[in-house]
Amino acid sequence: MLPRRPTRQVTLGDARVGFVKIGGGKPTRDGTPTTPAPVSVQTMTAGYTHDIDACVREIHKLAAGGAHVVRVAVPEKKDTDALKHIIPQVQVPIVADVHFHFQRALEAVEAGVHKIRLNPGNINDRDQVIEVIKACKARNLPIRVGVNEGSIIERRDKQKRMKELGAVFSGQKHGYMLAIMIAKLEEYLDIFYEQDFYDIVISAKSMDASLVVDAYTEISNRFDHPLHLGVTHAGPKETGCIRSIAALSGLLVNGIGDTIRISYANDPIYEVEDGLELLYSLGLRERKGVDLIACPTCGRIQVDLFTLVQDVRKQLAEKVTVPMKVAVMGCIVNGPGEAEGADVAVFAGDRRGIIYVQGERVANVPEPEILDRLLKECLDFQGRVMRGEAKLGEKKVDIIPPDPIGELGSGWEKIAGGLVEKTGSKPAELTVGKT
Ligand code: SF4
Repeated sequence: MLPRRPTRQVTLGDARVGFVKIGGGKPTRDGTPTTPAPVSVQTMTAGYTHDIDACVREIHKLAAGGAHVVRVAVPEKKDTDALKHIIPQVQVPIVADVHFHFQRALEAVEAGVHKIRLNPGNINDRDQVIEVIKACKARNLPIRVGVNEGSIIERRDKQKRMKELGAVFSGQKHGYMLAIMIAKLEEYLDIFYEQDFYDIVISAKSMDASLVVDAYTEISNRFDHPLHLGVTHAGPKETGCIRSIAALSGLLVNGIGDTIRISYANDPIYEVEDGLELLYSLGLRERKGVDLIACPTCGRIQVDLFTLVQDVRKQLAEKVTVPMKVAVMGCIVNGPGEAEGADVAVFAGDRRGIIYVQGERVANVPEPEILDRLLKECLDFQGRVMRGEAKLGEKKVDIIPPDPIGELGSGWEKIAGGLVEKTGSKPAELTVGKT
């Protein structure tokens, strides 16, 4: 597990929906030690909150997809009214996203929400902020203070501090914007500290990935509150994915970031899927479900691998819950190597699939049968793991990769003919399977 930057810890949720901890590693105000919580994945519903049934359905879908926290927009009173009916029906902590009107925050607290998000760029009346802080404090609710590049405003009384910070950041590409963000956070957080309120999460988002990296790096040096990472307005999934991962992965690897939201102009279930995959890939959360490995394909491809991989991915996502490693490979070049390291693997040859379970060959089937047989082997293996008869990640047999050049040519015909089981006493012989 990559080490995490020690922060204060906040907790949201309740006994019914469960509790999610964010950050940790520093003692609480009363001196109780905390340990860093696993980085969590958040997303936001795309539909109207006041459409109660649709909102509940969307929250169920996102929670079933693995979201640890779900945020909803509450622009109008009818939305906070709806929260009273939504919250009792869902099984995941809910955050109310409040902009412009502090009254919505107070109503959301009354409705039983688990956390409030405030934007200092559009709720900045000191007395109103204090009212929200007091309401959250009375119910032990954390608040995220989220500055966004798009809505941050420069205040006259922060000119002096900005000038100082501007000098500090003058050598940086984003110096001016960093100065505004830090000054705004300092000013805003002072209100919270005056109220003895420390259950705070900070975010500082931009659509510019390099500014996101600079901003969170600087904020992590200046504040010890947990950080909610995100690239705002990242765009469509196809490009927003790259923009988000470019910013978030570097921060996470350096121990910065305690909860994340990937944001796409698309169904938010993709934000959850990709956020989880990012954390799994970095080893920041224990994987749930299949770790699917597949080759990119090339001129050596032996079956329709793109279709096969998508079919395998969809079916295994529905049916497999143990974190087994499954490899789907297009030919013998890297197939045996991946098959050796995977729990279940297939590599292709001459429009056939050779299937292995923990290094042992179990089938050699024609292309139309690969999907069904691979799924069967995955489900059988999952059953054995669940019954304690097999262990994930065990390798039972060394596979000697065949020499696809040499006197054997490509070796495809040998695989198709089932001749690959012969043990390799002769170095030149195509040898795949038991040794
Ligand atoms: S496994 Fe074979 S088909 Fe796939 S990329 Fe590697 S060489 Fe190409």
